[in-house]
Amino acid sequence: MVDNLSLVVPFYNEEEGIDFFSKTISSTLAKIPSSEWELICVDDGSSDKTLQKLIDLSLSDSRFKVVELSRNFGKEAALTAGLDTASGAAVVVIDADLQDPAEIIATMVEKWREGAEVVLGRRIDRSSDSVAKRATASWFYSLHNRISKIKIPENVGDFRLMDRCVVDALKTLPEQQRFMKGLFAWVGFRTVTVDYVRAPRVSGVTKFSPFSLWNFAIEGITSFSTVPLRIWTYIGCTGALLTLLYGIFITLRTMIFGSAVPGYASIFFAITLLGSVQIISVGILGEYIGRMYMETKNRPIYIRRKIYHRID
Ligand code: UDP
Ligand code: MG
Repeated sequence: MVDNLSLVVPFYNEEEGIDFFSKTISSTLAKIPSSEWELICVDDGSSDKTLQKLIDLSLSDSRFKVVELSRNFGKEAALTAGLDTASGAAVVVIDADLQDPAEIIATMVEKWREGAEVVLGRRIDRSSDSVAKRATASWFYSLHNRISKIKIPENVGDFRLMDRCVVDALKTLPEQQRFMKGLFAWVGFRTVTVDYVRAPRVSGVTKFSPFSLWNFAIEGITSFSTVPLRIWTYIGCTGALLTLLYGIFITLRTMIFGSAVPGYASIFFAITLLGSVQIISVGILGEYIGRMYMETKNRPIYIRRKIYHRID
């Protein structure tokens, strides 16, 4: 029996890498026994020749389907577009730069045939990422997993295989702001892991600046945890208790020793500290309210301009 499988790949300004990608991926997929592949290439509003190159691919090889988005929606939206288009019995998600080794796909398919519903690729060696990126990533995971019920496995990217039932479950999640790592973890299912070493990018540059990774981390935490909201109740209560104790102390001191010299410095300190604490907590409320506002608009996650697909 031949399995119909899909590969979903987001492309954003990857023109230099497309030839390498198509060659490597075609030879890798050819080695996987009894499988028919469709390759869903999502062009996430690239401004270089990525789209044209993808269209050329789709003309020369009918397995390639190109989904063109109307602008750059970001990787998460591009993945969603790809998953919506994919029709395979299992779907593999991989980055266009092939930093995650394509050979692993064969192992993933094997595990899936043995009954796994999700096969995760885990990077055991991230020396191709910078020290700063590794450190911040590891802080993010430990903070995230401490404060939210849904645990995201560490060192696992978007590179994975999912059974049709998992993809269908993902499609039922209505949120606009899609933190895919979290959503993948949220749906659950029988999961196994395959380890690999992550290679450096062959061509092009990373599309994620430190600032966009910071925003991504805030997205992840606010999507899956309300601890940052609740923490203020405890900080407020602790502050109130301390203030009360301090008040009692001052009253007693005044009663016993008489009025002291007015404590300008301590009052100033208390006011500024409490003021800044309040501003921070309002800011955190703002993060959540802003997201609720965006969700209530109920806009589609992406807009598709066109699908290119050669029908033989
Ligand atoms: N990507 C995308 N839209 C974006 C940014 C990135 O579709 O707005 C794609 C990109 O083309 C690549 C994948 O997401 O296929 C991962 O991006 P990148 O390699 O820059 O991330 P890194 O490996 O540095 O985390
Ligand atoms: Mg990359």
